[in-house]
Amino acid sequence: MLIRLTYLSKATRDMNMQDIQDILTVARDNNQGLEICGMLCYDQRYFLQTLEGPRDDVNELFLEIAEDPRHDDVVIISYEYIDATTFGSWDMGFAPATDAFYKLLNDVGQNTFDPRALTPEQAVSFLSGLSEQHQTNN
Ligand code: FAD
Repeated sequence: MLIRLTYLSKATRDMNMQDIQDILTVARDNNQGLEICGMLCYDQRYFLQTLEGPRDDVNELFLEIAEDPRHDDVVIISYEYIDATTFGSWDMGFAPATDAFYKLLNDVGQNTFDPRALTPEQAVSFLSGLSEQHQTNN
C-alpha cells in the first residue's frame, strides 16, 4: 500500500545551504533504502515536504522527522493513498527559492511562501510543479 504524506514545519533557526545539504545527504541515503521518494522545499523558515512510498515506512520515517530538533510546529497537510508515486525520480528532491519557485507559487495564489495558507491540493500541486521543473533543469 502506497501513500503520500505532505507536511509543513517551521525551522527552529535560519537554514543555510549547508544545513539543507546535511538534511538531504542523510535523507537521500535513507530514502533510497526504504524506496521512499519525495520533494522538499524551504523558504521564509518554512519547510514543505512530501514523502511517498510504502505506508508503514513513510509513517515511521515521518515520526522520526517530526522529532528532529531542526524544526517544529510540524503539521500534516494531507495523507493520501496512491496507486503510484509521482515523485519517483527523487529519493528526495530539493527546490531552492528561485524565480521559478516564485512563479509556481504565484500560480497557487501566493507572493510570499507561507505553506500554512495552502490547501492540500495547492501544496501537492506546487511540489509537483517544482519536481517537474527540477527534472527539466537537471
Ligand atoms: P542521525 O543523522 O545521526 O541523527 C540522529 C538524531 O540527531 C536525529 O534524531 C536527528 O533528528 C538529530 N540530528 C541530526 N542532525 C542534526 C543537526 N544538524 N542538528 C540537530 N539535530 C540533528 N531523513 C530521512 O531519512 N528522510 C527524509 O526525507 C528526511 N527529511 C527531513 C526533512 C526535514 C525538514 C528535516 C529537518 C529532517 C529530515 N530528515 C530526513 C532527517 C531526519 O529527521 C533524521 O535526522 C534522520 O532520518 C536520522 O538519520 P540517522 O538515523 O542517520 O541519524
